[in-house]
Amino acid sequence: MTTNLDMLIKGEKVTGQAAAFDVLNPATEEVVASCHAASEAQLNDAVSAAQEAFKSWQYSTDDDRKAMLHQIADKIEANAAELAEIVVKEQGKPMFLAQAEVGGAVAWTRYAAELDIPVEVIEDTDTKRIEVQHKPLGVVGSITPWNWPLMIAIWHIAPALRAGNTVVCKPSELTPLNTLKLIELMNEVLPAGVVNVVLGGGEIGGAMSEHQGINKIIFTGSTPTGQKIMRSAASNLKRLTLELGGNDAGIILPDSNIAAIAEGIFQTAFLNMGQTCAALKRLYVHDSQYDEVCQALTTICEAQSVGNGLHEGTTFGPVQNVMQLNKVVELVEDAKQNGAKVLCGGAKTEGVGYFFPPTIIADVTNGMRIVDEEQFGPVLPVIRYSDVDQAVEMANSSSVGLGGSVWSTDVAKAQQIAQKLECGTAWVNGHAEVLPHAPFGGCKMSGFGVEFGQAGLLEYTQPQTININK
Ligand code: NAD
Repeated sequence: MTTNLDMLIKGEKVTGQAAAFDVLNPATEEVVASCHAASEAQLNDAVSAAQEAFKSWQYSTDDDRKAMLHQIADKIEANAAELAEIVVKEQGKPMFLAQAEVGGAVAWTRYAAELDIPVEVIEDTDTKRIEVQHKPLGVVGSITPWNWPLMIAIWHIAPALRAGNTVVCKPSELTPLNTLKLIELMNEVLPAGVVNVVLGGGEIGGAMSEHQGINKIIFTGSTPTGQKIMRSAASNLKRLTLELGGNDAGIILPDSNIAAIAEGIFQTAFLNMGQTCAALKRLYVHDSQYDEVCQALTTICEAQSVGNGLHEGTTFGPVQNVMQLNKVVELVEDAKQNGAKVLCGGAKTEGVGYFFPPTIIADVTNGMRIVDEEQFGPVLPVIRYSDVDQAVEMANSSSVGLGGSVWSTDVAKAQQIAQKLECGTAWVNGHAEVLPHAPFGGCKMSGFGVEFGQAGLLEYTQPQTININK
């Protein structure tokens, strides 16, 4: 595998002129690559290239854009093995999950390709016609995190292109290599300057948020960074979609069939080693089933094979970076000191790599950090409740609201309760299931705006009302 380390600006490969930074393999702590961040002048070049390309790209036909997005999906498919290997090496997840991420990137690209941009007719009479069209915004800046780096880049870029925008994207400095490859593939299909990539951390992300030539920022990442972006975006009233952190609650209703749902709870809580924005991060269980749930989850956790994602048989990889690992350790230690009981896992694995085994924590309550804060790692606190209203109240007592779930054999009752949850998506008998056709976004401090579906596509457009007097 020869890894491309260059940025792509106006169809040309360029090496960053600012500071060098290393990309680490979290399973081995070895340096996978040393990259160079973009200078501010290079960011300006990328924005100028996107502005120039927008002049004609905005008038490309729907059919052309659809065809090009399908060609991009073909290229991702043709390079799936290499992309998956890059994702495992820099992100850490097991190979089967990296393959699923590449598959997701293909599915979302094809879905965006097939979307139509509606024209809404408000009035059509002998003397007047009023219609609402949806025009592209111009240059879209995409800033992505390190957990699902390839898929989230596609989530941002594919609909932006479909709607007729051009793009400057910046991957996380922790996982930039898959995005470099992706943009290289896209540039084999698209005219020069339509999609550009710059490298770097917060300094380049901050410069993008302030840049007068960028018309919208689509950001996926933490709430504090989202707040900074929102402040900077005020300078030219950039449009924003902010997909921020969550601390999703799941409620198991009494009389649930625990044997039937335990695997689903585990998978959605520990998806990507828990490093998933809409993972189940707090589980509320009725007194009557508390011990049974804890036991069932512990059994599944203990059956995981924790290791390097490239090794056959690995089901559970490392935490992606040391900062996140330390946060997990800190929250688990805090819980222990406050009387919580660790049922399995509970400490970093000795030796090389950022491994932390799947961990279930019992005897925890709201008010403890492991419940109140987003752990974004392989730990699930299980909280007892005695009546369902109390569980809903505890679930909603959070400043964030991305997802939530209710689990029960009584689907109608579960839906009633799910609708009381303060979150952007409420699942019944599931969690963390994001789909290309279902709008997804947060409420409260989890951000605003949605991705996916037609509602997601329209966030990359500006409505224009055309009022015609015949
Ligand atoms: P982060 O906010 O630290 O970084 C995300 C991106 O923002 C990176 O590319 C980073 O370089 C950039 N950045 C950092 N400082 C910046 C600044 N001042 N201005 C502009 N950009 C800046 O987040 P992270 O640690 O990479 O990701 C984890 C967080 O992301 C978690 O809270 C998780 O819940 C959230 N997340 C949310 C979703 C969602 O869809 N809602 C999806 C995935 C992750």
